Amino acid sequence: MGAQVIDGKAVAAKVRASVKDAVAKLKQTRGIVPGLAVVRVGDDPASKVYVGAKRKAAEEVGFNAWECIFEEKATQEEVLAKVRALDADPAVHGILVQLPLPKHLDADELLFAISPGKDVDGLLPINSGRLMQGRPGPRACTPFGVMRLLEEIHFAPRGKKAVVVGRSNIVGKPMAMMLLQADATVTMCHSKSNVRAEVEQADLVVAAVGVAELVKGAWVKPGAVVIDVGMNRGPDGKLKGDVEFQAACERASFITPVPGGVGPMTVAMLMQNTLLAAGG
Ligand code: NAP
Repeated sequence: MGAQVIDGKAVAAKVRASVKDAVAKLKQTRGIVPGLAVVRVGDDPASKVYVGAKRKAAEEVGFNAWECIFEEKATQEEVLAKVRALDADPAVHGILVQLPLPKHLDADELLFAISPGKDVDGLLPINSGRLMQGRPGPRACTPFGVMRLLEEIHFAPRGKKAVVVGRSNIVGKPMAMMLLQADATVTMCHSKSNVRAEVEQADLVVAAVGVAELVKGAWVKPGAVVIDVGMNRGPDGKLKGDVEFQAACERASFITPVPGGVGPMTVAMLMQNTLLAAGG
């Protein structure tokens, strides 16, 4: 018996298609075109790829999209002035500052210049707080995408034991909060946890660690759902997840591949957040 592999690319395409429809309606009924601005500083190759993918997706769904590129040596004042100008522009509904930034820049100051309503990454403390209190607001895109994948496979978290491995502000913590809000019983693991003991009990495992194949297939409870957020580039240049994929396939009911699982969902949910920020 092998796990069903969840096709994140296909689900992401569905999300983008529904955003595209909503954008057309918003344009027609209220004359609003959602606008997304992405700020990138320097030449980090991964950032270039991510920002390019976000702009392409934004254009495809019918948004106005701006890519604001600064050289590596840009000053804090220059970048801050741009972020403030974008924040003041009513045509811009969502702003994203691509991380990591060059070390000489103060990322917090730049991020905090974004109004909470335009924080389409959902990572400002006020938006994390809204999630924690169960209030509406933009949600962190990656865990938001995981929730959408769970919906797609009709996995209802209610009453289930969910284990989230990793406690970053970007993935692990918001993931745990979203699952808690969906009535799962949630355990968060980190570098000081006995990950194996927790994973062995879990109906749902979400791995967001950044260590290739940390979660062994043999730990997975038969029939569990396994979501792998990890993206680890090996010496051969290939991407590997945080879960031992082949072995986990032997035991899980559903599993996400890397690449092609959670990755495409992050960009799709950014589109969803921007649509919501524009009032759609
Ligand atoms: P991060 O900020 O480095 O956090 C990693 C977390 O894993 C930390 O909480 C850390 O624990 C925990 N950890 C490290 N080693 C561990 C171990 N041996 N056992 C248990 N826990 C351990 O990483 P992140 O930003 O959350 O990203 C995690 C992974 O997801 C990375 O591979 C990243 O590339 C990927 N990612 C993918 C997407 C996507 O769109 N697919 C988006 C974001 C991130 P401590 O807190 O105790 O240090």
